[in-house]
Amino acid sequence: MARVVPPARPRKLAKVPFVELAEGRLQGVVSSGSDIDRVYVSSIAAAGHGYNCSTNNNRPCGGLGGAPCKHLRALADEAVLQYGIERVARYLRADVDGAASTGADLIAALSGGREPAPAAIVFSRFLRHLTYLELPVTTEPIPELHWFPATGAAR
Ligand SMILES: [Zn+2]
Repeated sequence: MARVVPPARPRKLAKVPFVELAEGRLQGVVSSGSDIDRVYVSSIAAAGHGYNCSTNNNRPCGGLGGAPCKHLRALADEAVLQYGIERVARYLRADVDGAASTGADLIAALSGGREPAPAAIVFSRFLRHLTYLELPVTTEPIPELHWFPATGAAR
């Protein structure tokens, strides 16, 4: 059973519904800024700082050129909110300047380039994570689930 750790600070779940430090990577799922039905799987490896971003269907992210895309930046920002900069920097062995550092500082401290990453595995971890969430009884839309009806459950 996965333990759901409350974030150090409140996070915007609709933007980055899933972030974790696992399998030697900072990895997670980031909503598309423009298309509500699309999500990106973004990851940064602790070893070598290789990063990648693709859709959950394994299409490469168009924003990924010679530098981390906006999804990776959003992932880094949310990881700092979720875990605190010290823990994220330690996990990634990234050399940042202390507790006042941000996700942008983290991205700037990365030394790696683009490299392949198992998006499907990360996405399935996200789906498993959703099933572990203890969702409060509510009639409000749940931001972490809002795209699933439209995509017809991408399992
Ligand atoms: Zn991207």
